[in-house]
Amino acid sequence: MENHIVIVGAGQAGLQAAETLRAEKYSGLITLLGDEPHSPYHRPPLSKDALKEKHFDSLTMRGPNVFERRKITMRTGCRVSAIHPNRQTVELENGESLSYSGLLLATGASPHLFPGQEPNAKTIHVLRSRGHSEAVAERLSLCQARQEPVVVIGGGFIGLEVAAVAREMGLEVTVLEAGNQLMGRVATPVLAKTFQQRHESRGVRIALNARVTHLSEADDRATIELADGQRLTAGLVVVAIGVAPNDTLAQEAGIVCNNGIVVDAYGRTSAPHVFAAGDCAARSNGNGHFLRLESIQNAIEQGKAAARSILGQSRPFHDTPYFWSDQFDMKLQIAGVAHAVTTSVVRGNTCDAAFSIYNYADERLVSVDTLNAPKEHIMARKMLSQEVWPTPEQAGDPEFDLAALMES
Ligand SMILES: Cc1cc2nc3c(=O)[nH]c(=O)nc-3n(C[C@H](O)[C@H](O)[C@H](O)COP(=O)(O)OP(=O)(O)OC[C@H]3O[C@@H](n4cnc5c(N)ncnc54)[C@H](O)[C@@H]3O)c2cc1C
Repeated sequence: MENHIVIVGAGQAGLQAAETLRAEKYSGLITLLGDEPHSPYHRPPLSKDALKEKHFDSLTMRGPNVFERRKITMRTGCRVSAIHPNRQTVELENGESLSYSGLLLATGASPHLFPGQEPNAKTIHVLRSRGHSEAVAERLSLCQARQEPVVVIGGGFIGLEVAAVAREMGLEVTVLEAGNQLMGRVATPVLAKTFQQRHESRGVRIALNARVTHLSEADDRATIELADGQRLTAGLVVVAIGVAPNDTLAQEAGIVCNNGIVVDAYGRTSAPHVFAAGDCAARSNGNGHFLRLESIQNAIEQGKAAARSILGQSRPFHDTPYFWSDQFDMKLQIAGVAHAVTTSVVRGNTCDAAFSIYNYADERLVSVDTLNAPKEHIMARKMLSQEVWPTPEQAGDPEFDLAALMES
């Protein structure tokens, strides 16, 4: 069979893999298939400045000439409907079939809808794609013109970023969070409390333990009903309650999935010649635990690792994970994963513009949250990857020299 690597999903991981294949001197065919109408674009700004600035065209990652130069066949608006690992083919929605020598699934994730949510509602939106962001941006402008309030369901990164933008536009904003703290999946209580205070001090109304029971739309207004009997109306509701990995193609082909397509450190799935990377991939650590991350860094690094594995090079992926979020004037960066945290130590003061929080699982440093402290974030990534870290007492002592510790 002719060398033909097919990549399903033209997002961050898919593009990275295609370019890594060429960087590693692979000279066969590469086809990048994306179901969106656009070629790969930067997703993080969709919930941040793009909502205000509407500079959507500038988010495109590569112009058409780049694909041509790198001999990557980029097909937009092209949905894959099935994969057949036994025959080494993929089937497109238009009936076409493509043979592959290697297949990468980089299909990303889809936002959860609120039960019963109408996907085409004018006032109720999710936020994952450029199309979603364009629709939310348009609606925010309308709310601004009509002075209508905005409600965000879900107090995670994306929900809080949208809330910050809406507030900066002068809108009345309420965040409804079902849990008892903000950013519950990634933030320790200390960090969550700080973010809550800072949002509230800028006029965002935050309701914790707020269970939405019903969402409806009538006369160009949304109505939100809560379990405690409250009823809110809004010109825009953004539902930001998490995502599910797009692993249906793999599941239907009999590939092992567990909240994502299960891969090893090399991006290999349970089917020969089939790899997965990015938000759709759940990495097995071999001990029955799986880690599925949703971040640009993870998509890039897994995309690279999978591309090299397709070429038969075995370089496992084990970088320290990191994440970021921009809300108002706060740049939050998180190095590591706050798992099984027993102690959180604040370095500096949570009332200051910049500070950091060191999170330990017993004696082991597992993650560091930095606010407006990018240099310390870089150092924290080094600490975690080199397994050299301060004791909790040292971390909490502002006089303790972290840089000297790293150099010793
Ligand atoms: C609004 C928003 C803000 C974010 N902000 C940040 C941030 O600040 N920092 C950060 O680190 N991360 C952020 N993220 C997360 C980050 O964007 C994702 O982790 C990253 O894009 C994942 O890359 P991916 O390639 O796995 O998936 P995606 O970029 O989602 O790409 C997958 C592509 O595959 C396509 N696809 C799916 N099924 C098929 C099919 N059957 N056929 C063809 N194509 C298919 C999808 O439509 C999509 O275009 C943000 C995400 C969103 C939505």
